[in-house]
Amino acid sequence: MTDLATHLATLAPHLSDIRTRGIPNHINGQACSAHSGMTFQTTSPLDGSLIAEVARSDASDVNTAVQAAKTAFDTWHTTTPTARKAVLHAIADGIEARAHEIALCECWDTGQAYRFMAKAAQRGADNFRYFADLAPGVQDGQSLPSPGLMNVTTRIPIGPVGVITPWNTPFMLSTWKIAPALAAGCTVVHKPAELSPWTALILSEIAKEAGLPPGVWNLINGIGHEAGRALTQHPEIKAIAFVGGTATGTAIMAQGAATLKRVHLELGGKNPIVVFDDADFERALDATLFMAYSLNGERCTSASRLLVQASIADRFEAALIKRIKIIRVGHPLDPNTDIGPLIGAAHCDKVSGSIRRAQTQGATVTAPNVPTDGPKTFIGPTLVTNATNYMDIARHEIFAPVLTSIRFTDDADALRIANDTPYGLAAYLWTSDINRAMRLMDQLDAGMIWVNTANLRHLPTPFGGMKASGIGRDGGAQSFDIYTEQKHIGIATQDPHIPRLGV
Ligand code: NAD
Repeated sequence: MTDLATHLATLAPHLSDIRTRGIPNHINGQACSAHSGMTFQTTSPLDGSLIAEVARSDASDVNTAVQAAKTAFDTWHTTTPTARKAVLHAIADGIEARAHEIALCECWDTGQAYRFMAKAAQRGADNFRYFADLAPGVQDGQSLPSPGLMNVTTRIPIGPVGVITPWNTPFMLSTWKIAPALAAGCTVVHKPAELSPWTALILSEIAKEAGLPPGVWNLINGIGHEAGRALTQHPEIKAIAFVGGTATGTAIMAQGAATLKRVHLELGGKNPIVVFDDADFERALDATLFMAYSLNGERCTSASRLLVQASIADRFEAALIKRIKIIRVGHPLDPNTDIGPLIGAAHCDKVSGSIRRAQTQGATVTAPNVPTDGPKTFIGPTLVTNATNYMDIARHEIFAPVLTSIRFTDDADALRIANDTPYGLAAYLWTSDINRAMRLMDQLDAGMIWVNTANLRHLPTPFGGMKASGIGRDGGAQSFDIYTEQKHIGIATQDPHIPRLGV
């Protein structure tokens, strides 16, 4: 039985355990407090209740973790790829064994609805299996012969790397970065977001139980501008794989500049879903609702701007309003809930402020399903109409279940509005005209474009954005670009001419 009461009963012992133990760091295979003994609190977005005291690391804790990762690198990068593959599969087994617990803890820590989080752990396990299987090929290179030379390329792991992740879907995103780093032969210092650090601890415990050697993966908890900053500035950290907001990504580039840090940035988005009047109306409607409101809208690839052709806009917006009235807002652990509480009161205040500003700028706000008696962290599915692309609500990433509808006349108008944003992460196109779709695919400023479908991930495909949405791509062997150095080796096959000096 998977009802709310059962979920709460299953979660209770885990909650009691974590409250007692707290969330420590995990360095060199050992759980440890911050050197200073300082902690901060992580609380449930549902009711603000304490989940646990969390180690508040400073630069000295980060340094201890980095030294452990540096020492472990010597053996981990020379471990055979087959052995690395075996450990990563064992981690995937461990994730699957604890998948239900991970889902419940993630919901409680982030406010995300169980309906969408139920599969998050499995997705994490899939990431580990996928990159485990790629491990034996990480060093593969090219053969590029030229007259008199046999040119070959190979790759070597770059060294200890830092992984910094956000609060919205922390478990899956951590695996998405850590699995390819370990497969490549790098060692890792991971700093999860301070607002939802619980499942990163579970993940590091699973890795230890799976036989990952001490120091290969170290967990550092802390505040972004303290522990996060120290990690990005550490000279022994060779690269930073970051998922988070654009402003933080910019700061990380600056912080890493003095040590020439390689950075891979997966940042924010303001993704358009473009619905033409020849689209399959019902499927486009389903996709719009799903991409705007699933995962609380706290999703980098969420469709937060609906661009709808004027000829169908009234009908499409009316159909959206009918449906958002029955989207279920409620307890994150209730399997019937579609939208749970947002991550915290501060985020909610920001979102409410953006909605109010849209109203003062002349937009119409329809939010038919906001609980009035619940905690302050609930924001129901919200539709903003009579909007233009110049309004703040259409320009800034809101990161909430808020969809702004903007009308367009023809292809050129749709393209202009879609691209008129600082971001370039994802775009969704709905049309039955394949020629139009092909033309727009070339012209849209987006790293990922889905045509007549919602966001469906296929792990070998490149994931990432253009413009303010980031630098670099994940997925397939591309994930190894950040974690490896490429080498060229030229071997003479004849005696090529060497100009003689000093004769
Ligand atoms: P955030 O940028 O505030 O924080 C992300 C991480 O960076 C946290 O661990 C934080 O502690 C750390 N951090 C903060 N300041 C730092 C600093 N100066 N130096 C080093 N680390 C620092 O992001 P968030 O609010 O946790 O997450 C939401 C954002 O993440 C949204 O913008 C969303 O679009 C983005 N996101 C992007 C993707 C993607 O794949 N493109 C996926 C998920 C989320």
